[in-house]
Amino acid sequence: MKAEQNNKIEETTVAIIGAGVSGLTLATFLQKSGVPCIILERRDRAYIETRQRAGVVDARAVRMFEQWGLVDKLLSGPVAQTIDYRLNGISRVFDAIADDGIQSRFCTQQMLVGNLLKELIDVMEGDIRWNVNDITIHNEESERPQITYFDAEGRHQLVCTYIVGCDADRGMSRLSIPDGILTTYSHEFGYAWLAALVEAPVIGHPIMGVSDHGFVAQLPRGPQRSRYYLQCALSDGPEDWSDQRIWDEIRLRLNDSTIENAVVHNKDFIPLRSVVHSPMQYRNLFLVGDAAHLVPPVSAKGMNLALFDVDILSKALLQAVKDHNTSALQNYSETCLPHIWNYQDFAVWMADTMHDAGDLTLNGTFRQMTARARLDNLFKSDTAARIHSEYQRGMN
Ligand SMILES: Cc1cc2nc3c(=O)[nH]c(=O)nc-3n(C[C@H](O)[C@H](O)[C@H](O)COP(=O)(O)OP(=O)(O)OC[C@H]3O[C@@H](n4cnc5c(N)ncnc54)[C@H](O)[C@@H]3O)c2cc1C
Repeated sequence: MKAEQNNKIEETTVAIIGAGVSGLTLATFLQKSGVPCIILERRDRAYIETRQRAGVVDARAVRMFEQWGLVDKLLSGPVAQTIDYRLNGISRVFDAIADDGIQSRFCTQQMLVGNLLKELIDVMEGDIRWNVNDITIHNEESERPQITYFDAEGRHQLVCTYIVGCDADRGMSRLSIPDGILTTYSHEFGYAWLAALVEAPVIGHPIMGVSDHGFVAQLPRGPQRSRYYLQCALSDGPEDWSDQRIWDEIRLRLNDSTIENAVVHNKDFIPLRSVVHSPMQYRNLFLVGDAAHLVPPVSAKGMNLALFDVDILSKALLQAVKDHNTSALQNYSETCLPHIWNYQDFAVWMADTMHDAGDLTLNGTFRQMTARARLDNLFKSDTAARIHSEYQRGMN
């Protein structure tokens, strides 16, 4: 299905901008269904394959891959159902309830992306154009959309039926929508996380640590690695956090002096924020994943919401292309947004609970006590535990 690359105008049915987790998943589903598509990506394959980010594919996304017969090919890693919530060093392990038997899976975004690339390019001969730049979208009323882009060979023109923007928050597809169409809703949490990828496996369960000294989490990123997240001030940057300071703060916040220093591979600085752009479509352009919304990583939902959008959009595109029925496509944004807002609410709940319950300089002692009561409830109330499980599993 590889389209001929020459000086003529090329054609495809779906042009996808961005070969991250959402672009690759969408292209894999379309290719598997025989719908022609081309991905345009500004980076190269090696860069995409080594970009380390999320670590858990939630149960909803597992079920989606199952429905496409792709679970064994794409997802590796054990089930992810427990979290060790530590309050000032005292540990309580939360075990997610799954009445339907489908559990989330520890599978790093990097592994999923690597497996998608193998399936899409090496097995299905999908068409990805790497290292493209200066993409311009022409998405006029009652005309077929056109994309122009440049690569090492020069200028290219692509005519398509639908364009999908999978190019994340700083991509160009959302920016191609004229002013006045989208409304942006955003919330700044007022603090940041230092994300440190370290050469130390998670022993036992992933940890969400609440402490008077601030929040810390440890989440698995493969058998030998994990990522620590440390709450820090918005005015900080990675340069303020030496490796020694990182390990000293981890020991302090987990109240565990036995934790030994290990190699720190990289450090990212992430201001916590939530954003929703609405609607998620304009004419024949559809926004997916981080291009349409951002959630703070405390909820572990960014990648999973991107996969949710792909689930809805892939079905709508198949209906439009195969059955000439565009109703699901026209309702794409309306179908996605209630779920996105529901998970924004979960992300706010997680962020407020985990941060207010610890460092009282954020919001004072009253909020600290109410946040600790919410955490207690998770372990005392079956109803609270069930609701929390369903959010973790992406099934709410
Ligand atoms: C440090 C960190 C930790 C995270 N932890 C979690 C977690 O635990 N759980 C979770 O679910 N989520 C997590 N996330 C969020 C998750 O990684 C994102 O939500 C997810 O990658 C979104 O997928 P996407 O396909 O929308 O965007 P991306 O995966 O970012 O892909 C976008 C692609 O578009 C390309 N692109 C951008 N601009 C252009 C352009 N102009 N032209 C062509 N191509 C372009 C980019 O190169 C990229 O390949 C984390 C994110 C970070 C940064």
